[in-house]
Amino acid sequence: MTEQEPCEVCTAPAEQKCSNCHSVFYCSREHQKQHWKAHKQQCIPARVREDGKYGRYLEAIRSVKAGEIIMKESPLISGPSQVTPPVCLGCYKLLEGGKTVSCEKCGWPFCSEVCTRNVVHTPECHYTQRRSEKVTISTYGKPHPNYQCITVLRCLYQRDNNQKIWSKLQTLESHDEERRNTDKWNNDRKMIAEFIWKFFKLDGVFNEEEIMKCCGIVQINGHEVPLLEPEYVAVFDKVSMVEHSCRANCNKSFASDGQIILSAGVNIAAGSHVSVCYTDPLWGTEARRHHLSDSKFFECSCERCSDATELGTMFSAIKCKKKDCKGYLLPDTFVLPILHKTKSPDPSTRGLDNKFWKCRNCKDEVSDGIIQQLLQDIGRELSVMPKGEPDACERFIGHCSSYLHPSHYYMTDVSLALAHMVGQQDALGLEKVSNDRLLLKTQLCKKITDLLETLAPAETRLRGSLLFELHAAVAETGRRKSLTGGPVMMLRYIAESKKILMESARLLAHEPPELPEGRLRLQAKINLMDMEALMQNMSAALPAPL
Ligand SMILES: [Zn+2]
Ligand SMILES: [Zn+2]
Ligand SMILES: [Zn+2]
Ligand SMILES: [Zn+2]
Ligand SMILES: [Zn+2]
Ligand SMILES: [Zn+2]
Repeated sequence: MTEQEPCEVCTAPAEQKCSNCHSVFYCSREHQKQHWKAHKQQCIPARVREDGKYGRYLEAIRSVKAGEIIMKESPLISGPSQVTPPVCLGCYKLLEGGKTVSCEKCGWPFCSEVCTRNVVHTPECHYTQRRSEKVTISTYGKPHPNYQCITVLRCLYQRDNNQKIWSKLQTLESHDEERRNTDKWNNDRKMIAEFIWKFFKLDGVFNEEEIMKCCGIVQINGHEVPLLEPEYVAVFDKVSMVEHSCRANCNKSFASDGQIILSAGVNIAAGSHVSVCYTDPLWGTEARRHHLSDSKFFECSCERCSDATELGTMFSAIKCKKKDCKGYLLPDTFVLPILHKTKSPDPSTRGLDNKFWKCRNCKDEVSDGIIQQLLQDIGRELSVMPKGEPDACERFIGHCSSYLHPSHYYMTDVSLALAHMVGQQDALGLEKVSNDRLLLKTQLCKKITDLLETLAPAETRLRGSLLFELHAAVAETGRRKSLTGGPVMMLRYIAESKKILMESARLLAHEPPELPEGRLRLQAKINLMDMEALMQNMSAALPAPL
C-alpha cells in the first residue's frame, strides 16, 4: 500500500515524499520545489526521538551512506572559551595589546571596527552599557578573568531577548544535580555567577539557578571549535542530541564559517541510532569511561566498553608473564561503577579492590593493583620520551612489546606517532629514509588503519591522514622498486598509491583548510592530478603489448 499524506503545500492527498528526509509529502514536483526554501532547514535524514533509557537521541530515517552529510548546523550560541587570553568578541581571534579597536558603546576590545558590529557581541555590549561604565582590558596574552563569563552571559541574554533560542538551550542537558558542589561548580559560581552579579550589576536579574544551569549547558554541550588558536566555544541544538558511543557511526567536523557538520563515518541502516564519540577513541576503556564520567556525567556501557577485548582488538590487553604462556590478560569486564572523586564512596562498590585480570590462555590471575602499577610505569616512560625521534619510538615499542599486546593503546599511540614521523626528519622526505624504515612506515600505517576500522570506524580524520602517509610510502616504494623492476613495476605501485589517496581524500572530504587535515585534502587533490598525468605519460611510453 502506498503511503498517502497531505501535501505540505496544498494538503491534497500526496504520495511523493522528500527523498532525503522522508518526513514531508507533496502532491507534485511543483509543490515540492515551491516548499524547498522553507523545508531546507528541517530536511535531514535523521529525527529526534525520545525514550526512558537514552533520553533524547537522533535516529536515521533512511539508510545513510558513509561520507554522507547528515546535517550542518549553525551554533545557537558561540563565545570565547572560559579560560582564555583576551580574544576578539566578534571573530574570536587572539588580540595583541596595542592592536585593538574598542567598541564605541562598551569599551570591549576587538580586532577591527567591523567586528565591533558583529551581532554575537550584543549581549555583553548591552549589559556593559547597562552598568554605565566601559570595560578596559589592559593585559593581553594571558588568561583574563573578564572573559570567563561571556559565553554564559550570552546564553542568559536570550531569556529576555530570544525566546526561541532560550527554549532550545533550556532543553539541553545541564546535569545540575551531578555538577552541584563539584570543584568546577564552585569555581563557576565564583568566577561566573558572582562576576555577573558584581561586575555587570545583574544581581536580582539572574538568579544562581539560572546562571549555574547555563554554565552546565555550556560545559556539557559546548564544542571547542578548533578553527582558531585558542579554540572558542559553540553550543549547537540538534547535534547536541546525538548520543555517545566509543564506537560511533558518525563524526563531527567544522566548516570554515563555524557551522558544525555531522557526517556518517560508516554506512548507517534506517532506524539506527546516530552516534558520535565524546571522548578520545584512542584511549583505553578505563580512561575513556573515567573521562566520560567526569565531564559528561554518565557511565558508558557501549558495545566497545562492554567487551573487554574491545571488539577483538585487545586494545587494553597486557602480556601474561607466566612461563611459556603466550596469552594476554584482561579483566572480565571494564564496565564497573566508577567512584566519583567528588562524592562520598558508595559502599556497594567496595568489592572493586579485589578486581583481577585473567589470562585468556592459561587462566592465571593478576591483581588490578599490579597491572595499574605497570601501566603507570609505562605511562611515565612515555611522558619523558623525547619528541620527534623515530629511534626513541622504536626503542619504546621494542621494550614494551614484552609487557603489552602489540595493539595496546600505548603501543598504538607510539606507532601512530612513528608512522607520521618517518620521512619528516629531512627536507628530502621519504627519499632519504632507509628501506627498513620505509617498510616499517608502510606496515604501521596499514596496521593502524585496520585497527581503526574495527575500533573507531567513524574516526575519518585520523584514518584519512594515515592513508595520506601510506600513499606516500607506497609511491616511494614503487620508485625504489622501479630501479630494478622498470616502469611496469612503477606503474603498479603508482596505481595502488592512487587508490589509497582517493580513499584518503574521501575520508577528509569535510575538513576545512584551517585544519591540517583540510590542508592534506587539498594536497591530495594536487597529488591525484600529478599521479594521473604521470600514469598517462608512463603508459604512453611503454612498448605496446604483443
Ligand atoms: Zn500540493
Ligand atoms: Zn526533506
Ligand atoms: Zn574580530
Ligand atoms: Zn560593545
Ligand atoms: Zn563506551
Ligand atoms: Zn597466561
